Amino acid sequence: MPSLCKYAANCPVFTAALGPLPHIGLRYRKAYCRGGWDECARFAVAEAVGRAGVPAGLLPNESQAARELVAAN
Ligand code: SF4
Repeated sequence: MPSLCKYAANCPVFTAALGPLPHIGLRYRKAYCRGGWDECARFAVAEAVGRAGVPAGLLPNESQAARELVAAN
């Protein structure tokens, strides 16, 4: 498994554009972007419906929301 998520370069979680909570972003990047991306809600939606279908504010641990988004598409 690659160590870095293939969506990292354009993902607001990885590029720290998501919001004013840098410590949360660091945690997400460590837990998801640098190895656990196959568990990431954003990754799941991007894989299922395309990167354009990922809501800007969707967080990596929002797996239920991801499932609903995928089911609705
Ligand atoms: S938040 Fe998810 S989709 Fe974005 S770079 Fe990290 S693992 Fe990939």
